[in-house]
Amino acid sequence: MEASENCSVKVALHIRPLIGDERLQGCKECVAVTPGKPQIKIGPHSFTFDHVYGSSGAPSSAMFEDCISPLIHGLFQGYNATVLAYGQTGSGKTYTMGTGSGDGCQTGMIPQVMTTLFNKIEVLKHQTEFQVQVSYIEILKEEVRDLLDSVSTIGHAAKVNAPGRHPIQIRETSNGAITLAGLTEVAVSSLQEMATCLDQGSLNRATGSTNMNSQSSRSHAIFTITLEQMRKIRSAFPGNDTPDEDMGEEYFCAKLHLVDLAGSERAKRTGSGGLRLKEGIHINKGLLALGNVISALGDEKKRKEGVHVPYRDSKLTRLLQDSLGGNSKTVMIACISPADINAEESLNTLKYANRAR
Ligand code: ADP
Ligand code: MG
Repeated sequence: MEASENCSVKVALHIRPLIGDERLQGCKECVAVTPGKPQIKIGPHSFTFDHVYGSSGAPSSAMFEDCISPLIHGLFQGYNATVLAYGQTGSGKTYTMGTGSGDGCQTGMIPQVMTTLFNKIEVLKHQTEFQVQVSYIEILKEEVRDLLDSVSTIGHAAKVNAPGRHPIQIRETSNGAITLAGLTEVAVSSLQEMATCLDQGSLNRATGSTNMNSQSSRSHAIFTITLEQMRKIRSAFPGNDTPDEDMGEEYFCAKLHLVDLAGSERAKRTGSGGLRLKEGIHINKGLLALGNVISALGDEKKRKEGVHVPYRDSKLTRLLQDSLGGNSKTVMIACISPADINAEESLNTLKYANRAR
């Protein structure tokens, strides 16, 4: 275990280009990246992150190599990991993660994760037996919804403990692992099968119109890849050459959560009251709890003092509990628009991401 290499949360900033709508409104860019540094300036404020990816285009292979690839490496060694895309609606979270349904975004992080994962399996499969499962849920109004409920025909879907549309319950096993009772977990054996799960689940994701973005998502979407490995190991006894008896087995199981968080804008900016406002409040509960958990994890001093990490304050943090902190690696990708009309929300995002460091 690499206990010394212990900053478990890394923060990357992604600034998307101005989009059509913003250009039409005559928006100007209000953020500036300091050349050669992972630093951004907005008005009088300046922030430094682990990485900053500028507004020239698509989420790049550089982001994948720097931030996500090490997590996949860890996954094969049995370490859980979480990738979180944070930002206001329209800032590019879905685009960056690659969870958008239908727009064929192959440059997003999840498509790159899938390719890399199956390439690695292909290389290692002669010495190791692999089982890959995916699940896909969303959290809306503090309720967990199964986005793969209707796609049980891909691969071999196993329902954990519950048939039909039962509410999914978060449980903790005696060794601290989080499990979801009632969740559809689909065993996939190819990139294609996994991609189908991603697409189907993304289509099922609840969206609602607000006046910020007609595809606005008020839910957190969590695509989870579970990798199980059974590795044959040779006994260390010299001269023992009976093949069956000297083989031991090593078992690893780890999961990677890829999270497209709900829009971080304040409820009042969506301009709709009543129900929508209530949803906004719940979403903020998840994001608020996440901010507190991540900031507690990032604070070395607090961690040494054994300060309480408030995982139980929301469904989101409870669900990610065994994959945030400890030996797990976490990457937050903060997404912002460069447009001056979004300056206030962008600043909020930068402040939130800054707490995670
Ligand atoms: P969010 O999920 O945060 O609400 P989206 O991912 O839906 O935001 O992005 C909002 C809009 O911006 C979409 O039209 C998307 O195609 C566009 N967009 C986002 N990121 C980029 C990018 N890196 N390059 C070009 N267009 C982008
Ligand atoms: Mg989105």
